[in-house]
Amino acid sequence: MTIIDRTAPVLVTGGSGYVASWIVRYLLEDGFTVRATVRDPRKANGLEHLHALSAEHPGRLSLSRAELLEPGSYTEAMAGCELVIHTASPFLLGKVKDPQKQLVDPALDGTRNVLASVGETASVKRVVLTSSVVAICGDNIDMRGKDFFTEDDWNTTSSLGHQPYPYSKTVAEREAWRIAEAQDRWDLVTIHPGLVLGPSLTTASKSGTFRTMGSFTDYSLAAGAPALEMGVVDVRDVARAHIAAGFTPEAHGRYITNAETMSMLDIGRALRARFGYRPSFPLTQAPKPVIKLAAPIAGMTRRFIELNVGYPLRFDNSRTVKELGITFRPGAESVTDHFQQMIDDGIVKG
Ligand code: NAP
Repeated sequence: MTIIDRTAPVLVTGGSGYVASWIVRYLLEDGFTVRATVRDPRKANGLEHLHALSAEHPGRLSLSRAELLEPGSYTEAMAGCELVIHTASPFLLGKVKDPQKQLVDPALDGTRNVLASVGETASVKRVVLTSSVVAICGDNIDMRGKDFFTEDDWNTTSSLGHQPYPYSKTVAEREAWRIAEAQDRWDLVTIHPGLVLGPSLTTASKSGTFRTMGSFTDYSLAAGAPALEMGVVDVRDVARAHIAAGFTPEAHGRYITNAETMSMLDIGRALRARFGYRPSFPLTQAPKPVIKLAAPIAGMTRRFIELNVGYPLRFDNSRTVKELGITFRPGAESVTDHFQQMIDDGIVKG
């Protein structure tokens, strides 16, 4: 049982990110005081939505500079906080030049640094860490012999050379549990979203979400989509799950925060049902050998295609529904709300 003082400030790391921005917004709307860390609080672009939230909720949102790779960087902003929500971590898809430097170091050393600050900050009672379903399952083929993945499962198949982003999330989460279990002053709760979709409060995020949605506008799926199933979840439900995980005294362990599984074709169908025919929405699935041949052009490896395309993927989200009280929006709603936002932001034509 961990009871968080609702008048104490809540620290959100990576506060300008796609997911974190919704966490910050909901915390403010719920009446909390929020400290958001960003890499550069003075930058001209990418923080407009946080400045607007700050103006709407005077005196309750402050921005501090913090960098995952700098030891001690989060300590000052954490002072007096009882709840720390650690979302900051790069989410890069496609070909990553230096996965150790671009993904693993910020995820793993960043988690170490944030938790070292937690260790030095006597007020902190709970840390909510944004992990992912990719720390549970590396490749869809790993589901062989199971009906679905649960919180008991760990990704044991990703590496620096194969699925580096899932690898970065897995090693960072394992390290977080190791550090949490070595002490008993604060507890750790981890949130495991599938691919997060839905309206964005910022157009500046580099999140892999936008790359995936971009494939429904750039014609790369026009000749046929890979038979690739993905966990999907709405950004607003993910934000709510983080807050519920922070303030539910009995919350503990890992929570799969995923609405359902959709294939690329399912996403295309949902988009067509709402926005009508567009040549960039896939109408069919392309044969696996064709996808495999073309994979490198799309920034994917043939091994990724081999181990993921054509295999079903299922997650059991019942802990999150029962213990955190989350009712997940259907994936089709998140997909279409996301696309509508792209139209509203002028990223695609209406
Ligand atoms: P995002 O918009 O790119 O947010 C990532 C945040 O991390 C940004 O605020 C970024 O700061 C910060 N960050 C990256 N490197 C940093 C560094 N070296 N020092 C300090 N801050 C750094 O991506 P997102 O999709 O919201 O992801 C947020 C979290 O959710 C991540 O932990 C991600 O792994 C997890 N997640 C995302 C999804 C998804 O589908 N989007 C699914 C499952 C889990 P800047 O703004 O300064 O770059």
